[in-house]
Amino acid sequence: MKVLVPVKRVVDYNVKVRVKSDQTGVDIANVKMSMNPFDEIAVEEATRLKEKGAVTEVVAVSCGVAQSQETLRTAMAIGADRGILVQTDAELQPLAVAKLLKAVVDREQPQLVILGKQAIDDDANQTGQMLAALLNWPQATFASKVELGDGTVQVTREVDGGLETLSLKLPAIVTTDLRLNEPRYVTLPNIMKAKKKTLDTLTPDELGVDPAPRLKTLKVSEPPGRKAGIKVPDVAALVDKLKNEAKVI
Ligand code: AMP
Repeated sequence: MKVLVPVKRVVDYNVKVRVKSDQTGVDIANVKMSMNPFDEIAVEEATRLKEKGAVTEVVAVSCGVAQSQETLRTAMAIGADRGILVQTDAELQPLAVAKLLKAVVDREQPQLVILGKQAIDDDANQTGQMLAALLNWPQATFASKVELGDGTVQVTREVDGGLETLSLKLPAIVTTDLRLNEPRYVTLPNIMKAKKKTLDTLTPDELGVDPAPRLKTLKVSEPPGRKAGIKVPDVAALVDKLKNEAKVI
């Protein structure tokens, strides 16, 4: 059974992003880029399923600029068997990515696609759901546990009131939540091995997809700055301020 894992190259989660002076977006020049953390969890989960013997091949796919190859190599160092880059310099919005992924699914015929629940750059949380709709496949989002059965996948999801467990018929879409697993540390020998794995490159044209944006970003702005706090000498002064200045108690 084949699993497809879409991985996105995003600004590293440790980087404090800065809005461009013309407010058209976030400055990503000379900024450290990494694999979206939820996608690392997805690759780890697919790799664990393979190690358990439930899966025979894990294919990582990334849509974006040529440097996304690095993200695919990281996925292969974690455990993906090969990578596919859908290369484009175009701005990609979730619907375009979902269409590109659908075209890759049509070619690769995986039984399971495991995506991250959201990319930490735009926080869209849309691609998995859109892909499920385009393919007309069942979906289980925000997975905290994934178990493969015979022609089914059982997914536990964290919901407001506790845990919900769903059983889906394969082929299916799953998106990962933070507590699904803790991705392994990528070792140097595995980075070296990953360099020898196959990485194919396709274009949106070859997949018959027009990735042009459908939404226009009007403005990106920084959140308002916070005023500096003050130190109060004791609890009585704190209570007094909360009562008489902030008027919250
Ligand atoms: P989003 O809907 O943008 O929050 O992204 C949700 C998930 O879709 C991510 O965690 C990835 O698994 C996948 N995804 C989004 N954009 C891309 C991309 N450009 N290439 C590959 N996968 C992507």
